[in-house]
Amino acid sequence: DARTTQNLPTFTIEPTTTPIDAARRAELLENPTFGRVFTEHMAIIRYTEGQGWHDAKITARRPLSIDPAASVLHYGQEIFEGMKAYRTEDGGVVTFRPDANARRFRASAERMAMADLPEELFIEAVDQLVKIDAAWVPSGEGQSLYLRPFMISDEVALGVKPASEYLFIVIACPVGTYFSKGCVSVWVSEDYTRAAPGGTGFAKCGGNYAGSLVAQAEAYRMGCDQVLFLDSRERRFIEEMGGMNVMFLRDDNTLVTPALTGTILPGITRDSLLKIAADKGLKVEEIPLDINEVFEGAASGRYREAFACGTAAVLSPIGRFKSPTGEAVFGDGETPGPVSLSLKAELTDLQRGRHNDSRDWVHRI
Ligand code: PMP
Repeated sequence: DARTTQNLPTFTIEPTTTPIDAARRAELLENPTFGRVFTEHMAIIRYTEGQGWHDAKITARRPLSIDPAASVLHYGQEIFEGMKAYRTEDGGVVTFRPDANARRFRASAERMAMADLPEELFIEAVDQLVKIDAAWVPSGEGQSLYLRPFMISDEVALGVKPASEYLFIVIACPVGTYFSKGCVSVWVSEDYTRAAPGGTGFAKCGGNYAGSLVAQAEAYRMGCDQVLFLDSRERRFIEEMGGMNVMFLRDDNTLVTPALTGTILPGITRDSLLKIAADKGLKVEEIPLDINEVFEGAASGRYREAFACGTAAVLSPIGRFKSPTGEAVFGDGETPGPVSLSLKAELTDLQRGRHNDSRDWVHRI
């Protein structure tokens, strides 16, 4: 079978010996702060050069013991994914397009010269963790179990080179809605960029996020919720936000979003929404998008709606963009646009198994 030909390890399951009681879990699930409450288990697989992936385990979630010379602590070989498990109406649990996350993870690993993790192993690790922690998948509207697969290099050796040892781990947190307000405001960063041609923009590596934090802090100082990055050459073309892609609705019923040029993360929500929009009869364009055109278009009414999209926040309508020189306001700046809301409803219904899944995006666990 595929497992033996690819030499994939079999998971050992070690359930926690100190399970959390159901009443305490229910309390934790009520209104979880994003990324602060974790489930009881984790998936962990080790990679050693020459040996491949081995010692696959589902075990109690606990701190790692790591040598101070572990390579990730110095040279930052770290990549991650973000995906969610949803509770369906019939009480089942599903993930959404896990194959796409597995593929993107491989692309990130390749860019960071890290070990190649077979897609089947990625998906199985996630499935096994969700299965053992299924009681942690909340059922409320907007709630889900956020899954964080990641890989670090932990070879004990200083010296700049790709490591020969890695850990792949999956942890999980029950989460609610990401933004509490109707529309978010976005700061256009002119001083900082996120990625350059030939760089790591398309990879989901920790370093990209470390580099974005000072710009995000500037956004907060300017009274905004999120930061928008422009291209690094001309500081003119829209790229993406710190942790989300961005889309606009034009008055000719066209959904426009920056093309994937290697400097932005190819979001799975982005891809899904483009396909859903096309199904609904909208035109879609992936093009270079000039920030000046968007600011002028917001004023003239040519650009009607704007939103950010990503796994964590799903789809967040954008009320306004602020830059050092001006503002672009969509609608009244506070009320989400109708097309944004209908795309969001369509996507969330699909993710929760409430729609005909003609593309086979929903993965039952
Ligand atoms: N851009 C960045 C920089 C992100 O971190 C994310 C979140 N993974 C996204 C876009 C959206 O990607 P996805 O829809 O796959 O969550």
